[in-house]
Amino acid sequence: RFNTVIDPELVERVKQLLLCARSIVITCHVSPDGDALGSSSALCSVLRALGKDASVVTADCPPKALQFLPGVRDIVTSTRTPEKAQELIAKADLLFCLDFNDMKRVDRLSEALEKSAARRIVIDHHLAPVISCDVLISRPEVSSTSALLYILLWQAGWARYLNRSSAACIYTGMMTDTGNFAYNSNDPDLYLIVHDLLRKGIDKDNLYKLVHNNASQSSIRLNGYAQYRTEYMCGGRMALISLSSDELRDFDYSKGDTEGLVNIPLTIPEVQWSIFMREDSKDLVKVSMRSKGVFPVNLVCEEKFGGGGHINASGGEYHGPLTDALSYLLQIIPDYESLLE
Ligand code: 5GP
Ligand code: MN
Repeated sequence: RFNTVIDPELVERVKQLLLCARSIVITCHVSPDGDALGSSSALCSVLRALGKDASVVTADCPPKALQFLPGVRDIVTSTRTPEKAQELIAKADLLFCLDFNDMKRVDRLSEALEKSAARRIVIDHHLAPVISCDVLISRPEVSSTSALLYILLWQAGWARYLNRSSAACIYTGMMTDTGNFAYNSNDPDLYLIVHDLLRKGIDKDNLYKLVHNNASQSSIRLNGYAQYRTEYMCGGRMALISLSSDELRDFDYSKGDTEGLVNIPLTIPEVQWSIFMREDSKDLVKVSMRSKGVFPVNLVCEEKFGGGGHINASGGEYHGPLTDALSYLLQIIPDYESLLE
């Protein structure tokens, strides 16, 4: 039915591992987004419908805008309840790693997870996974882990265990990782999946509103200010947005307020590379990059900001104040300028 086919042998192994599992933990990357939370919550719901003891454990809290997602309030978060998170990981005999390709991406959970003797199943769509595991379902050509999970559930005969709530989780992951089906979204499979999810009773129009209509007066002012101050370089082909911790404070910043900001310069036809640097504290700058076409922001983030991601959407960090991060950035731009078209 789908263009994407998961090797039936892998599907069989997932089923085998599940048969003997007594206690299952599902985890996803730190700063979980719609795809990470959507796929994790949906899988948890299906596993419970199969009669399994399953929980989602994350390193840190889901963003406010995604707390409406069914199941997200039940997630065990290590920053909030570290003992509970450790306990669940310690007793788990099967671990699902969703939407990440490197144990570093689970941040404070990585030690406990590395120590765990649980069998591991990775379901992910990031390039070049470096996680040791028993079953690896890694498909970078699929636009979201949620869509990939749906195909796995379908092949395993478990799509029928999705209800309206877990279907909404899958849809949200697909929607957020494709910018509302604006990019990475030409695969007809996606619309077969959306069709199935609509049949499960999801209200896709309302899901869009719940995820995106979360602005406040101060967040709109902050974004307006940042856009006004954006610098364009490399002959207008690169855009740089930065916000210092003082500016964030002046605009009453709260987590999630700058979601989507880095995409905006790409609406200018000439801009191929957009960078956003946010000084979360005086010694930590969160770096986000987006691109159009062949410009590989994952390479820049990997090589210069200890991060990674996808070719057109990546992130990383700079340890130091924003002013240093900006001078460092100016130094490294020439290394990549020739990759701009
Ligand atoms: P965002 O810019 O929205 O924070 O992240 C965009 C994408 O870049 C994420 O989906 C993720 O794949 C990747 N990413 C963001 N931050 C990091 C990071 O610190 N390390 C790595 N390896 N990838 C990141
Ligand atoms: Mn994803």
